[in-house]
Amino acid sequence: MAANEELIAVAKEFGTPVYVYDANKIKEQYNKLTTAFEHTNAKFFYACKSLTNINILKYMHSLGANLDCVSIQEVKLGLKAGFAPEQIMFTPNCVDFEEIVEGKELNVHINIDNISILERFGNRFGNSYPVCIRLNPHIMAGGNYKISTGHIDSKFGISIHQLRHIERIVKSTGLHVNGLHMHTGSEIKDIGVFLTGLDVMLDVATRFPDIEFIDLGSGFKVPYQETDMETDVKTLGERIAETFDKYEQETGKKPDVWFEPGKYLVSESGDFIVKANVIKHTTATVFVGVNSGFNHLIRPMFYEAYHKIENLSNPHGADRIYTVVGNICETDTFAWDRKIAEVRESDFLVFRNAGAYGFEMSSNFNSRLKPAEVLLLDDKKLLIRKRDTFEDLLKNQVEVL
Ligand SMILES: *Cc1c(COP(=O)(O)O)cnc(C)c1O
Repeated sequence: MAANEELIAVAKEFGTPVYVYDANKIKEQYNKLTTAFEHTNAKFFYACKSLTNINILKYMHSLGANLDCVSIQEVKLGLKAGFAPEQIMFTPNCVDFEEIVEGKELNVHINIDNISILERFGNRFGNSYPVCIRLNPHIMAGGNYKISTGHIDSKFGISIHQLRHIERIVKSTGLHVNGLHMHTGSEIKDIGVFLTGLDVMLDVATRFPDIEFIDLGSGFKVPYQETDMETDVKTLGERIAETFDKYEQETGKKPDVWFEPGKYLVSESGDFIVKANVIKHTTATVFVGVNSGFNHLIRPMFYEAYHKIENLSNPHGADRIYTVVGNICETDTFAWDRKIAEVRESDFLVFRNAGAYGFEMSSNFNSRLKPAEVLLLDDKKLLIRKRDTFEDLLKNQVEVL
């Protein structure tokens, strides 16, 4: 995250609300991962749904990252940003079969997460194109139920209890399975989840002779609150290296290990700056009403996510207790009872950890304009997305009346 003076300068130059990303922090996180896994054959695929601005994709490419995509549009953005097809993993869920075929035609890695699709892919392409299979190992993981994907009710992946069925399809269609994948959720602090998952994946791998990689997905946690801990990737790296060494001794094989970090790479790099429009004293609380809402940052309302809020303009003001809300006609509370340095009307406030799933989940609800995005790179402040204009609201509307 950037220094406060720099953020104030961005707010003054580009206006608010504005998302600001610090390239240095992205690089720091990326380097932490590559260092932690230096004793493994690890590859990192940036889960770009967390933040897809083309400049962020290009920056990830320059760092040496690969790309994890969940829609064909993300795949096309990745190719446009300069990623080679073999650097792109396509992991769609519940998409039309033709979208998967399109991914195949673009030569990217295909990850299949449904029996019926596996069957159709096998019938159509046989062994002519390798696929990865997304398994659901049924490991409970993640910050909360909404962001957990490995549980029994999850729509993601093919249950490991359906392994026999998978094997039947592979055998009868001749499918070439080159990878196994799992992704059990987001904000996983317990590295045991990855290690247990890896044991399951390696066990399954013995049944498929051509496995080249095991993809452990992501869900690496970053601290949002003062008391939060980051996933201990260093220890995880050591343990995973040991597991693969042991597997190699036993089987003579050493598949690569892939990860798909989203939040871990971009969450902390991002700050979201807003302006305090009004201070409103009611009988029950003191509201700060800011020039934004869940149309710009929905995580607090959608996931009950905690984002640290600081007053950039009055950092040394006396601490006061506030309820921070947006200007949307809908209940849009960012935070209840939050201690913030005294807020005056027109102060700039900043939401921390706004890089992942911030701008990306924004909308034009209430016919408000989407914010601008700025990238801080080598002492430069680069505008990487213009703020919406009034014309943008009408862009795809067809005026027939
Ligand atoms: C969302 C997603 C990720 C990234 O999750 P984070 O919690 O942001 O790291 C990785 N892999 C897949 C398949 C995803 O859908």
